[in-house]
Amino acid sequence: MDKQAQIDQIKQRIVDENVCSHLAASATQVVMGDGNPDAPLVFIGEAPGKNEDLQGKPFVGAAGKFLEKMLASIGMKRQDVYITNIVKYRPPENRDPTDEEKAAFLPYLEDQLKVIKPKLIITLGRHSGMAFLPNLRISRDHGQPKKLNGQVYLPLYHPAAALYNSGMRETLLDDFAKIPRILEIINKQIVN
Ligand code: URA
Repeated sequence: MDKQAQIDQIKQRIVDENVCSHLAASATQVVMGDGNPDAPLVFIGEAPGKNEDLQGKPFVGAAGKFLEKMLASIGMKRQDVYITNIVKYRPPENRDPTDEEKAAFLPYLEDQLKVIKPKLIITLGRHSGMAFLPNLRISRDHGQPKKLNGQVYLPLYHPAAALYNSGMRETLLDDFAKIPRILEIINKQIVN
């Protein structure tokens, strides 16, 4: 079975197992992910917003446009990476997902990552980062790769937070510029 078919099965399990049915009640659909599941790079945000809920794809609103711009700055397109969120349903009124909601979706995200087997997981924002790197301090650790249990992570600021903050935008672009070199180093297996 190819990777997309396996991800489709995880999506079906989210529905069948009634994960966060209180969110499902107000959401349009499960927003599972977008891009290439064979990519070496996975971006993980927090939860879908309004546009994502309507289109069924993560990061298609303003933050997504900025993410695409940053990808272009390192010569990449959406199709060269895989993009997903921790929480797969839109929280009502775009509120932050709760710890319980993030915990409920985490096993499904972990299964999704086991299918994709990325070389590098890039977390977007503090909440996504802390799901994988519990001691994360985003202001201190952003842009620095960390290896945990054999997996390399790169914690970054969230593009939505950087949209209206030019200093943070610069920092995010600078951190993004490190991605090709980090991938190269991982391929040579010298990140500790
Ligand atoms: N913000 C996120 O964290 N995820 C999306 O899919 C869109 C905006």
